[in-house]
Amino acid sequence: MRILLVEDDALLGDAIVAGLKQAGHAVDWVRDGIAAESALATGNYAATVLDLGLPRKDGLEVLRGLRAKKRGLPVLILTARDTVDDRIRGLDAGADDYLVKPFDLGELNARLRALLRRAGGQPAPRLVAAGITLDPAARNIFQGGQPIEVSAREFALLQALMQHAGRALSRAQLEEQLYGWGEEIGSNAVEVHIHNLRKKLGAEAIRTLRGIGYVMAKE
Ligand code: CA
Repeated sequence: MRILLVEDDALLGDAIVAGLKQAGHAVDWVRDGIAAESALATGNYAATVLDLGLPRKDGLEVLRGLRAKKRGLPVLILTARDTVDDRIRGLDAGADDYLVKPFDLGELNARLRALLRRAGGQPAPRLVAAGITLDPAARNIFQGGQPIEVSAREFALLQALMQHAGRALSRAQLEEQLYGWGEEIGSNAVEVHIHNLRKKLGAEAIRTLRGIGYVMAKE
């Protein structure tokens, strides 16, 4: 999934980017409120991790602006301000969850998984489609009781398709979920990943809809 991280602390930001990437996400990182607003206006994100204390524009204002546009994007706020008031203001402004610094990266990833599940209308922690089971937390894939080994990008691509099972995703939509800013994307990267996944999962697992994109059957 593609995540927008808004955090002005360089050390913490670096650590969060590494943690999110390790969990298989593509991450765009901006460091102030104005940059956050322009990224949110143009990027297609699955969720955002938003620090509240930001230069140029406060995180709460960014959040209020986002919700005023009726955007349902899952938002997890980070606050160093260990007061109940700040958390209440954040939740009232439309945050879906919060973490108080310092926090554990494992917990950040677990909370994000929960937000993404709810946003995707998938309350169960495991995704099931086309005879395949994918567990985003344990990061494993099973087909017919057999574990399937895939690369990090293949995992992310399969997860996106399974999250939207029954709906076609275009190559551009998949690229958006797989790659952050500044990452080199080969012109046929998605096709190559799909090809490799079909070799591992069988040709029928992922269908091509000519001129539209790729789709997995719902179950
Ligand atoms: Ca800050």
